[in-house]
Amino acid sequence: MNPTVQPKASHFINGEYVEDKNGTEIPVIYAASGEQIATVHAATPAIVDMALASAKSAQKTWAAMTGTERGRVLRRAADIMRTRNRELSVLETYDTGKPLSETLYVDATSGADALEYFGGLAASLTGEHIPMGQDWVYTVREPLGLCVGIGAWNYPTQIACWKGAPALACGNAMVFKPSETTPLCALKVAEILFEAGAPAGLYNVVQGMGEVGGALVTDPRVDKVSLTGSVPTGKKVYAAAAADMKHVTMELGGKSPLIIFDDADLENAVGGAILANFYSSGQVCSNGTRVFVQKDIKDKFLARLAERLKGAVIGDPQDEATTFGPMVSKAQMEIALGYVEKGKAEGARLVYGGARLNQPGWFMQPTVFADVRDDMTIAQEEIFGPVMSVLEFDTEEEAIARANDTEFGLAAGVFTSDLTRAHRVIGAMEAGSCFINSYNDAPVEAPFGGVKASGVGRENSKEAIKHFSQVKSVYVRMGDVEAPF
Ligand code: NAD
Repeated sequence: MNPTVQPKASHFINGEYVEDKNGTEIPVIYAASGEQIATVHAATPAIVDMALASAKSAQKTWAAMTGTERGRVLRRAADIMRTRNRELSVLETYDTGKPLSETLYVDATSGADALEYFGGLAASLTGEHIPMGQDWVYTVREPLGLCVGIGAWNYPTQIACWKGAPALACGNAMVFKPSETTPLCALKVAEILFEAGAPAGLYNVVQGMGEVGGALVTDPRVDKVSLTGSVPTGKKVYAAAAADMKHVTMELGGKSPLIIFDDADLENAVGGAILANFYSSGQVCSNGTRVFVQKDIKDKFLARLAERLKGAVIGDPQDEATTFGPMVSKAQMEIALGYVEKGKAEGARLVYGGARLNQPGWFMQPTVFADVRDDMTIAQEEIFGPVMSVLEFDTEEEAIARANDTEFGLAAGVFTSDLTRAHRVIGAMEAGSCFINSYNDAPVEAPFGGVKASGVGRENSKEAIKHFSQVKSVYVRMGDVEAPF
């Protein structure tokens, strides 16, 4: 066990750490060594009930505050997160295995951005006045009530904040369940919000597997569920929430296309493809894992890609010089390595990597397949690991049709120096989050989310407000009521 990593207790409820050792033990394994560094316990029904009851009660106090007051708490939490960025980044690295060279810049910092952005919006969440002759209608933007957040394991701090910040800005309370693979970071988010002045119980964290998630989703006190996870889990959670007509946001998986035309700046296109496949060891939902490269530049693209991949520094993620860390877990590494075998067996050409590293921890090489066909498993299924598929194409029409030929629709990117083509191609993409001559930028100001099987609703930006609030409309009659009888 690592004493700096082991939390005081498994859950954070009503402003304090709470333990119930009757819950199933969840070992926390450090991905870079394979060693157990901490232990938490899954929430028992008593813990789930305590979390929901305290959130329900805190929500009333919170919603009665002004938007300015709520926003001040969120912005204070953002400041605390930034002050503690290094400590939180080290913890994120222990939780996920992602290298410090990433976590110092995109986890607590991105969480702080969300808290600051939604804190800034909280005071301006107003309705409108609609004139109706001498009468009028006014609208009120109201909170939904009690929201449940359920997270995936790739960005535990970011996900806890991306869900919590807009929920709280709108006057809701939240019970958040992190992934059982990465249970540590969300506890810090809860601690910081409480320290920043959030009422006790407003943002609670409970641990557990799918079972605990299921108990939260089906509880009648819950008004909204926001899940980040895989498509199969999304289908189950969406169906369970629908049974009680609960609101949902579903941020699910993808198999996104990145289309590179022969007039693209090659160096930028290769850089974009690296960002789209190997950041966080490929464990990013919006990754552009189907890289369509126009025929004439394919060989040049593959050669330059291989050269640049040699520059990846694979190793100890707590060393700031490391740029490529381990996979989050043994299971996830085995899934990715299984896809590598499938790719080879189905006739794709392995042009880079493909192997597990001979050292402790769950390290595998960044991997590139060329000559991938659309019907191969590695081109159809989300791998969620560092495996890039390069597919060759001839014409723009062909690239668009093949890019869209998937059940998913999370993201899409295009590299070209032809401005009109860039917009035409992105306009035709069946995807929610798109990039032109770039990939995977996700600032809090921009809506984020998918279409088709990749999700419902949007996170970040003003769009997220619509998914954490509801509108009441009030008709005001100034004259007499004319009834028919
Ligand atoms: P997962 O679907 O296995 O689990 C996600 C969360 O759901 C976990 O906390 C899990 O405990 C919980 N869960 C599982 N079954 C449940 C149930 N029946 N009821 C309620 N909760 C349940 O996903 P994962 O392996 O943790 O994460 C990887 C997946 O997440 C990938 O598919 C990836 O694309 C997706 N993801 C999407 C986004 C996005 O924003 N679109 C971001 C990150 C990850």
